[in-house]
This record gives sequence, structure tokens and C-alpha cells, in this order.
Amino acid sequence: MELENQTIHVLMVAFASQGHINPFLRLGKHLQTKGLHVTLATTETFRHRIIKHHHTDIGTTTITDEIPAISGIDIVFFSDGLSLEYDRKNNLDIYMDTLAKAGPIHLTNLITSLACDNIRPKKFSCIINNPFVPWVADVASQVGIPCSMLWIQPCTLFAIYHSFYNNAHDFPTKEDPKKSVQLPGLPLLQTCDLPSFVLPNSPFGSITKAFFEALKNIHKLRWVLANSFYELEKEVIDSMSKFVMIKAVGPLVPLKLLGQDHEVRDFVGIDMWKADDQCIEWLNQKEPNSVIYVSFGSLVVLSKKQMESIAIALKKSKRSFLWVVKPSNYPVPEGAGELPEGFLNETKEHGVVVPWCHQSLVLSHKSIACFLTHCGWNSMLETISVGVPIIAYPLWTDQPTNAKLMVEVLGVGIRLWPNDEGDVKSETIGECIKDIMDGPQATEIRAKAARWKDTARGAVAGGGSSDRNVQEFIDDIIRTSSCIECNVNSSSMESQSV
Ligand code: UDP
Repeated sequence: MELENQTIHVLMVAFASQGHINPFLRLGKHLQTKGLHVTLATTETFRHRIIKHHHTDIGTTTITDEIPAISGIDIVFFSDGLSLEYDRKNNLDIYMDTLAKAGPIHLTNLITSLACDNIRPKKFSCIINNPFVPWVADVASQVGIPCSMLWIQPCTLFAIYHSFYNNAHDFPTKEDPKKSVQLPGLPLLQTCDLPSFVLPNSPFGSITKAFFEALKNIHKLRWVLANSFYELEKEVIDSMSKFVMIKAVGPLVPLKLLGQDHEVRDFVGIDMWKADDQCIEWLNQKEPNSVIYVSFGSLVVLSKKQMESIAIALKKSKRSFLWVVKPSNYPVPEGAGELPEGFLNETKEHGVVVPWCHQSLVLSHKSIACFLTHCGWNSMLETISVGVPIIAYPLWTDQPTNAKLMVEVLGVGIRLWPNDEGDVKSETIGECIKDIMDGPQATEIRAKAARWKDTARGAVAGGGSSDRNVQEFIDDIIRTSSCIECNVNSSSMESQSV
């Protein structure tokens, strides 16, 4: 269906974290290139954080105090109900609860003011939320706009949470903590393969609640768009399609990783920290397929013991490595996230440690042989898109399930297992490094990774499965938008107190 009306506006509402905002920006860009107008709304705290960290150029965006757009997508902010100084990280439950109460009021006001803007009024035809802001579906319903969700984890996780919250299958309990789970379209999942939020005694109350709200309310969603691709999770997508219109539209990763551009300035997304560029120079000096890339993403801070075992394994391997060790910006136990004393000096001939890098440039660099990773889903889609094998070191949330998918289902890596005390020993890491670089499975793993790379790129190419799904979604917005009158009843929301 051709776009008949150039004023179709879509509002995306994201939780304020890089791992949520970047997939949104890439989906937004996709919608934009197909003719829609896209605005991203997130909370003030995000604006404050990027101003604090940057005051510089990021990709195509010049960050100023105003931040009118990121990568060409209009960006607007609303209050989460807490002061900017409030310690959200260490008071997650209060943060999420306040956001769920204050967010609907402030977001409704924002939608109203954007619709009434004298110069550039925006009447939205569609709102897209994500699982950490499930209440957006109620705001959308109150203002009479259809709501869809961008699911930012694999569809496998959607199926697990859906089954868990609907009591459709038995999951581990305090009485039976080792219970395995068999779901349609998925391999048998042991406790070590399940996301931490469905395990008994999960300490992450507010996140578990947000997922519960998101899954409980899927009937309020018109579509669930997943950051995955159909070929990767066929069976599970087909099985979930019975409950909801779920369509994979990914991988939503930087275009460079999909072989579609070659410039950093075309990077669609935002980096919360300033990347070290010199490590790319360093990689340029290295042989093809020779460097181990090590990163645990933006949130994980490894314990002293974990840091030590990785450091010893890298040192003993004598192989080239690039390790991202991001300083924590919140209080952590003593020694956590710190390199062992003398490590930098002892490994300076073959290793480099940086606080943050352009991961898309690193992963797509020909010198990279493998990726020792915590298996965050963005990182997994990025590595699949370039065909780099992984050493999986999952820690919490969706990471154990992502590791299962990568290693056992796709066959693109090796998983590190802890010993009976729960520690991953340096010897284990050393063995895995040897295996992935030149063990008996190495060639097969590399071949599988190369095949998945081609499949991922095919999915997002014109006419591929994800491209077709995005087009179907747009056609649906166009069809329904003619019936929508943005009828914002802000007075009913204003009467609620925060
Ligand atoms: N990343 C990066 N530079 C780094 C480390 C990570 O750009 O030095 C990016 C990485 O490309 C990915 C994101 O940070 O897009 C991490 O997201 P992921 O879902 O893998 O993990 P999370 O940070 O959510 O745990």
C-alpha cells in the first residue's frame, strides 16, 4: 500500500535506557524511510544523562541542551515523577512504581500539547511502547490511539513470560526448584536456561511486575513487533501468533553490521558513554580472526572473582584481546568491575582495555575472532549480523535463555558453565577460548555463524521477512488512521494525583 498521506505520525514511548532506546530509533528510522513521521518520547532523566555525558557529536546528532532529534528522529521528554538527582538504580521498585503513576499523566499532557501545537501539530495514528512501560497501552486507549509494542528481547522470552504469567505451564517453584519447562516451539528449558524473573525468589520485584503487566495486557495491543527475525525463531513465533499479532522486524542493529553502510556518522542510535576510538587503530594492526573481544554490555558489573578469572584466562591465552571495562556510575562491592593489579602491564603486548567502544565497528572488524559476552540481546543480534562466534557467559534476566538459543539452537558458540560453587573458573574460560579459536568444533561454529549472518541480512533486505512485516505494519497504520480522531481527554487524567 502506498503512503497516501504524508502526515501520518507515530509516537514511540521508550524506557530511559540505551538498550531500549536504540532498537526504537532503528525501528523509527525504518518507518521514517517508508514515509511516516516518527517521534520518540522518553523520560527527562535520559535527556539529562546524555547532556551530562556528551556535549559532543554522536553519529548524526549534535547533542545540545535542547536535543530536538537523535539520528533524525524527533525526541520529546516527560517527567517520571522523580527529581533528576534521585538514585533510580538503587531504588528500582520506587522508580518503576512512580513512573507507572506519574508517567500516564505527563505522557497524556505531552500528547495533548503535541496535538495542539500551533506550528507543527502532531496527531498520532499509532503509539508504540515497550515492556517496561506497559501503562502506555492504557494512555493510548484513553486518547483513542491504537497501541503496539516493540518487544526488545527474543520472541522465545515473550513465549516464556506469556506461559509463566498465564499459568499455562509449570515452572520451577521453591518446592521444586529444578523443574524443567517444555514449551511449544522451544527446546527443553532447564532452570539454568530460564530468565531470572521467572525463578522462585526472584529479587527483581518491579521488573517482574512490569513484564507481568505487559503480558497481561497484550489484548490491548494491536501488534507486537519483535526485535528478532522470523527465520531465527519460526516455531515460537508461529506458536505465539495464536495469542497476538506478533511479527519480527529485526535485527534492529546499526546498518554497518548488516553490510548496508560504512560510516560511523550513519550510526542510528545513541551511545551513553564516549567511545574510545584508538582501539580501532589497534585492531587495524592485528591479523584477521585473531582478537578476542570481551564485553558485558552497559549494565553488568562483574564481581572481583569474575574479573580475576577472566583476566587470568586472557593473560594465559597469550592471544590478542580487546576488553571493555566500563567504570560503574553507582556504588558496587569492593573490587567489583576492577582489573587485578598489574594486569594491564602484564598484558600490554597483546591486550587493550577500554571503558567503552563503538561495538558495531569492533564486531565488524576483520581482526575479531570471537566475542566473550554476557549475551544481552542487542549484542547477540549484532554478533549474529556479522557472523562472529561467541563464548557465552550469561548472568541474569534474559541472558541465560539467549545463551541457550545462541549455543544450542543456532550453534554459533560455546557456553561457559559455572562449577558447583557457582563460579566460572579461569581454566574453564581458557579451555573455551582454545575451543572456539581452533578446537574441533571451531570450523563448524564459524560456518554456522556465517550462515546466520546471511539469513539476518536477508531478513532486513528489501522484500525480506522483516522488511515485509514492517510494510504490513505500516499498511495497517494507514488503513486505521483514517478512522482515528485524536480525542484526548486530559481532564480525566489531570484529576488523578501523582
Ligand atoms: N555497547 C557499545 N560499546 C561497548 C559495549 C556495549 O556500543 O563498549 C553496546 C552494544 O553494541 C549493545 C549495547 O551496548 O548495543 C548493549 O546492549 P545489550 O542488550 O547487549 O546489553 P545490556 O547493556 O542491555 O546489558
